[in-house]
This record gives sequence, C-alpha cells and structure tokens, in this order.
Amino acid sequence: MSPLDLAALGSVTIALFGLAIGSFLNVVAYRVPLGLSVVSPPSACPGCGAPIEARDNIPLLSWILLRGKCRHCAEPISARYIVVETITGVAFVGVALLFLPGILAAASGPSLVSRVLVLVAFLYLAAVSVALTAIDIDVRRLPDRIVLPSYGVGVVLLGAAAIVGGDFTSFLRALAGAAILFVFYFLLALIKPGGMGMGDVKLAGVLGLFLGQLGWAELAVGAAGAFLLGGIFGVVLMIGGRAKRRSAIPFGPWMFAGAWLGIFAGAPIANSYLTLVGLT
Ligand SMILES: [Zn+2]
Repeated sequence: MSPLDLAALGSVTIALFGLAIGSFLNVVAYRVPLGLSVVSPPSACPGCGAPIEARDNIPLLSWILLRGKCRHCAEPISARYIVVETITGVAFVGVALLFLPGILAAASGPSLVSRVLVLVAFLYLAAVSVALTAIDIDVRRLPDRIVLPSYGVGVVLLGAAAIVGGDFTSFLRALAGAAILFVFYFLLALIKPGGMGMGDVKLAGVLGLFLGQLGWAELAVGAAGAFLLGGIFGVVLMIGGRAKRRSAIPFGPWMFAGAWLGIFAGAPIANSYLTLVGLT
C-alpha cells in the first residue's frame, strides 16, 4: 500500500470511529443532564417506547434510511442526532490529521507511543467538546460528571506520554496552563458574578491543560479566542435585537470554539499578531 492509500484508509477508519462515538455522545448529551445512566437502559423511541434495534442504530445511515422517523410509530427523530455524529466524525479526522505528521516522524518506539497517547487525549477532548457544547446549549450547564473526570483523563494520558517519552516540558506547561486558565476564570467569576459560572471556571482548567500541552501560543490564542468569538457573536445578536445581555448566551460553546482555534491555528495566529504589533 502506498502512503496515500494508508492515509485514506486511516482517515475512513477514524471517521467511522468518530461516527460511532458521536452516536454515544447523543446518548450522553440527552441523559447526563437528567442524571440518568449512559449505559442502561438501552435506547428506546420516546414516542412509542419501542427499543431501538441494532439495524436502526447505525450512525448516520439508519437515520437516512428511516428518513428521520421511528420504524414503528413514525415519530420524527431530530436531525440533531446526525449533526452530532457528523461533527464528531469530522472532528476526529481533523485531530488525527493534526497529530499524524508528528506520529509518522517519531524517531523511536517510546516516542511513537508517547505521541499516540497525546493523540488519544485530544480525541477524548474532541468528544467532550461535542457533548458539553450540546448540553450547554440545551440546559446552560456544564455537568461536573463530564468536566471533573476530564482532569483525570487529561493528566493520566498526557502524564503517561511524558513518562514514556522521557520529556516533561509539555506536561509541566500543561499543568501550568490548567492552573493559569482556572485562576483567570475564577477571578472573572469573582469580579463579575452572574457573567461567568463555576461550570465555566472548572472547564477553563481542563482547556488550559490541553492547550498548555501544545504550547504557550496555543494557550494564549485558545483563551483569547473564546472572548473574541463570543464577543463578536454577542454584538451580532444585540444588533439583530435577539439578545439584550451577553449573559443570556451560554459561554461554554465559545470556550470550546476558542480552544479548538488555538489547537489548530494557535502558533500561526500568535506569530502574525506579534508581527502585526511589531514585536518580532
Ligand atoms: Zn416509535
């Protein structure tokens, strides 16, 4: 197989994996705010209560074949299900392609394992980003049940990557990033109560951890991006007369939008900014 075939096969595999995870994230986004288990009972139609059969539970494909309706009672199934699945599939391919050059360039076995662990950590972050964005838009909450374990998953995977690779520079910067963003958001919440919730503060530490792993430029752009993108959207809404106050809009989705901007384009954005203001 040529390298190009291998890349194409890898992309399709990771896309299918992302679709399957996205299907699970739909369950997470629906059940976690209600305090329900994400594993049992199995999914059922909210209209007629019929259990969803395996053949009707294939991501993307089943919804299209059923034309967005329950097989038994024709209750409409929200298009949001396939939107969440598609976004997760695309996000997984994007993350894999971002880390692929580093993985292919790994000079040794330990360095390869270390880089794959970092990739797994960022795939986890992508999944959490999709689920928490959906939940924050739905119910304006960022549940501890998802946010708090993310500290553990991030520290274990990135810490293991540092130990295996024998280089703690990125991991120490990740821990510093988590502390910096947590304290920054905590101070914002103290100064302006009602503007920023404790859910945002706890999420900020998680995002700081992952952004810090990649670099200071990623951390800075990821943090500033949230306020820039959220602010622009708030102004557009106010001009359109759709929102009177910025606090009416959940901030979590903007924190994720900013973070992913930082992850994918932090270094080039920071460099052009520094050039613009004449610092380089
Ligand atoms: Zn039904």
